[in-house]
Amino acid sequence: MATSEKQVMTGIERKGDSPVYKWPAHPRAKVDEFGIEPPLGDIQREFQQTLRKFAVEVMRPIGQKLDRMTAEEIIAEDSPFWEFRRKYLDLGIQLSDLAEMEPEERSQMFCILFEELGYGDGGMAISVAAGMLPQYLSMIFGNEFLMERFPQDMLGCWAITEPDHGSDTLDPNGMIRHPGAEYGRPNTVAKFQGDKIVINGQKSAWVSNGTIAECCILYCAADMGDGADYSNGCVLVIPLDLPGISRGKPLEKLGQRGDPQGELFFNDVEVSTDYLLAGPEDFQRAVYSIHAEANALMGAIWTGAARAAYHMAHAYAHERKQGGVPIYRHQLVAYKLFHMFRQVEASAALTRRVVHYNQAADLPALQAAMIAKVTATDMAFDVASDAIQIFGGNGVTHEYPVEKIMRDCRSSMIEDGANDVIALKGGYYLMDEDLL
Ligand SMILES: Cc1cc2nc3c(=O)[nH]c(=O)nc-3n(C[C@H](O)[C@H](O)[C@H](O)COP(=O)(O)OP(=O)(O)OC[C@H]3O[C@@H](n4cnc5c(N)ncnc54)[C@H](O)[C@@H]3O)c2cc1C
Repeated sequence: MATSEKQVMTGIERKGDSPVYKWPAHPRAKVDEFGIEPPLGDIQREFQQTLRKFAVEVMRPIGQKLDRMTAEEIIAEDSPFWEFRRKYLDLGIQLSDLAEMEPEERSQMFCILFEELGYGDGGMAISVAAGMLPQYLSMIFGNEFLMERFPQDMLGCWAITEPDHGSDTLDPNGMIRHPGAEYGRPNTVAKFQGDKIVINGQKSAWVSNGTIAECCILYCAADMGDGADYSNGCVLVIPLDLPGISRGKPLEKLGQRGDPQGELFFNDVEVSTDYLLAGPEDFQRAVYSIHAEANALMGAIWTGAARAAYHMAHAYAHERKQGGVPIYRHQLVAYKLFHMFRQVEASAALTRRVVHYNQAADLPALQAAMIAKVTATDMAFDVASDAIQIFGGNGVTHEYPVEKIMRDCRSSMIEDGANDVIALKGGYYLMDEDLL
């Protein structure tokens, strides 16, 4: 304890030459609402608190209403979804502002943003995240035409999976393809014809924001004049009001109902090559980068959703009495809460570390983003399920919010790549060719 810096360490004072802890006789520290994170700077703290308020006061009540509405009602003009979208835009969060920050600050803001949105409502958080992917990827690829053409408040979507191609669209280099398997006929093809591109086909009903998005980052097979081939794919960022584009029926589904999903159909849709973000030579890079970004986002969102379930179970365990005591006093409830807390914190720590690592790296590590995604989503489902257990019979009723969180979390284990497929592919990304 020689340096003066150490003398001002929080919780320690000096008596002569010795450090003395200022702790109470029976210490018990409260953990911050945002979890075990070293103190945030003023800007980050304000950002987190603003978003927490938004999550609890705006997203949660709207998310609960949307959860009880039909898929058609959710996207109708008078739906509370639009109130959420307006209020989110009013927060004035701009990707370009985040991009200007140093990697450490940027990664902190990124995790705060998506953890807090996930804390409010997982489905609506996904709608925001998917909604910014066309602009985000245009920015990463430094395409100024597309950045100007698609302002950041335009609602976007990411269309990659197809009725006949789910897991394999996230494996365009065939790393985990079954031996001897072929990709097969692509469902969506962009035909290059001089300075124009003509798109035909359809994307799956899973496209987040598919029924309402104004623009789309479209991953599809490219036909350069010698036939369509997904291993020669391309990426376009296009407006969704072009002639020849139509949408499928809004998708009815288990959870994440605040993320309106649906098919996109393309019938001789023409765009100029200005709308091309990545041609066949850049296709692998474009899949890699969107997968790395999206998996990291997933890590943060589902950590936030799990934290919400944990907080709800924690509060309920103090209110609900059995045998004359709050159920918290029954040892197995305290034990379960401890493990829920442990898992949420482990996932938060991992995700924050991965996001920081990838933001600071010249090339983000996809396997790092994948461990954040798989850890957070598997953990969120387990924590939400434990929350139901703590709520007892109340946990499975619509009166209480935890069963909705569990349904939301279940879908997250498939979206952005099924966790088993991600783990398989992630395993191959660990391969060191020098050792083979
Ligand atoms: C909530 C949600 C949101 C989504 N959002 C979007 C979106 O915004 N845009 C978009 O384009 N798509 C989106 N998707 C689609 C999602 O990416 C796919 O559902 C996912 O990639 C799996 O594809 P699939 O459903 O076709 O399953 P399949 O690929 O048919 O897989 C079915 C099962 O087979 C297993 N399997 C498949 N291939 C392999 C293999 N090679 N090795 C081992 N096992 C294998 C899988 O693990 C899985 O268990 C979303 C999905 C969900 C659930």
